[in-house]
Order: sequence, then structure tokens, then C-alpha cells
Amino acid sequence: MPVFGHAFVGLGAAQYTKPQARDSFGATLWVTMVLFLNYLPDIIYQIGLFSGLRGVDTIAHSLSAAIALSLIMAAVLGVLARLTFSRAFLISLCSILAHDLLDLIYAPDRFFLWPFSSWRPGFDYSLPPLSLTEEILVFGSLYFISWIVYWFWFDKRISQPLRCNTTRQQYLVWLSRIMVIMIFMCAGTTHYLQKIRGEQFQQAKTILQTTKNYAYALDLLDAAGRWPYGATLAWVNYFKAQASWKLGNTREAEHYYQESLAEDPWNFWSIGDLALLYASGKEDVAQRRSRAEPYLKKLRTHYADNPYTKSYLRRIEAALHTQHSAAQAVRNPAAGR
Ligand SMILES: [Zn+2]
Repeated sequence: MPVFGHAFVGLGAAQYTKPQARDSFGATLWVTMVLFLNYLPDIIYQIGLFSGLRGVDTIAHSLSAAIALSLIMAAVLGVLARLTFSRAFLISLCSILAHDLLDLIYAPDRFFLWPFSSWRPGFDYSLPPLSLTEEILVFGSLYFISWIVYWFWFDKRISQPLRCNTTRQQYLVWLSRIMVIMIFMCAGTTHYLQKIRGEQFQQAKTILQTTKNYAYALDLLDAAGRWPYGATLAWVNYFKAQASWKLGNTREAEHYYQESLAEDPWNFWSIGDLALLYASGKEDVAQRRSRAEPYLKKLRTHYADNPYTKSYLRRIEAALHTQHSAAQAVRNPAAGR
């Protein structure tokens, strides 16, 4: 996700939304607070993740969460910056939605309308993220344009300097500056680590598709599956499952497919592969069919229009009619991918 992009959007938003009450606590820390709003979905996501919650990525980046968080933040901003509730709500909602929409450009397979709809803007997970330099150039330039527009055309009455009458307020101004610098440094570190993880993820995918060094691919995916992620955990676990299956470790493969589906219950490839894995097991046909059935049902009912569904169904039926071990069964679990 555009880590620096969020920071520049936050800086721009803070400039255009300065509170009228220039002597308030909120006005002194305004830039920090608007930056906080612009990172709020990720902050909630990280808190959820460290608390062991599943699917928290979807929840934190949904429209419902944006509205709920904005209601809370509107009350906080109202008190700290002496804003009306509606103005504080609007600033909070626009900031959080700006984050969500920017993220959706790079990860369109999110359920933005959770929990009311399973619609998502897209399914392609491989849109290449911008490099650190590109991100700073693109979003930094946009911020610079907004800065010029503000200073040359915007009403100067709302850009009066802060009134720092007390030592406490002067300390707060410095605290705000330090916090903004720290937010940018954190964004830079996160971006750097995400880039490394993303490269490890891509390298593991290439190894899985072109060589037989599956154990090394698994090591790379283990490294890529650490925070801050370069790819979603649903995809990291999906490819871990493939690597494990190709190594003949079907139990581990099943575990990783289940993990992938715990993160994203509608991941088509994990559903298809898991059905195929169950259909290719060592049990008798009736047992294999009953294990594969819930996933087969999902493929038939929810993914009837997917161009790869037919191929999956054909391979699953073929596996169900064959008496063989899972290790021999399907050497290429997701040939369609
Ligand atoms: Zn995000």
C-alpha cells in the first residue's frame, strides 16, 4: 500500500482543514492528528493482528469501519480542536476513506462493503507497488501542487498562525513536529521492509512456477509472511500450501489452505485447490467426496462464471474417480493460476 502516499495525503488534508480555534490543544497537534486519521485503518489492522483476530484486514479497511471510527474520532476532535461534530465527522470520514481508497488501488480484492456485501472492486493481487522514490515523487508532487494552490488561492483567514501563549503550547508545537518526523520515518522503514517482503514473495512464486526448489520457496514465504507484509497473508499462505503439497506434505498444505481461507474466505484459488487436495486424498471415495463437497459447492454456486471453475471441477471429479495417494495425485495444484 502507498505508505508514503497516506502521509502526504494527511499533510495536505491537515493544511486545508485547520481548526478555527487556533489556541486549542487540537490546533497545536492538528497535523499529527490528521496524519493519525490517515493511518487509522492500518493502526486498527495492526492492533487486531497482534490480538490474534482473523480477517481484521477486511474489517479495518471497510466502509462500515470508516463510519464507526469517524463517529468516535468526531467526538474526540470536537473536544480537542473545538470543532462542530459534523465538521469533525466529515474530516475523519474523508481522511479514513482516502486511506481505504488508496489501498484499494493496490489491493482491489478487499471486501470494501463488509459485512453487507461480498462485492470487491477486483481480484488481481499482483499490481506492482510503487518504489520508495516513485511514491515520494508522485505523492510528494501532488502535495506540493496542493500546497501551492493553498498559499496562492485559498482564503488566508483560516491560515492564521498558532497562538502559543504558554510554554506548554510551545512544547506541544515541538512535540507535533517530532511526531510528524517520526511518522515519516516509520512510513519509510515500513515501506522498505514491505519491499523486501514483496520481493521474497515474488521470488517464491517464480521458484514454484519454474523450478522444483519448493523447500527454498517455503523459506522465502516464511520470511515474506512477517509484518509488514509485502503481500496479503491469504496469498502467502496459499503459496505456502502449494509448496507444501508439491513437497508431498498434504497435511501441512491443508493447514495453509485453511489459513489462507481464514484470512480471505472467498479466495477462489484456495477453495479450488483445497477441494482438489481433499478429492486426491488417501481415504475412500465417499470420505474424499464429503470433505471436498463444501468447497465444490462454493465453486459451483459462487464461481460458476469464473473461467477456471470448469477446469477445477473436471480435475476434482477425475481425482475422485481415481484410487491413488495424494502425493501422486496432482503435481501441479493450481495449473490454472
Ligand atoms: Zn491500509
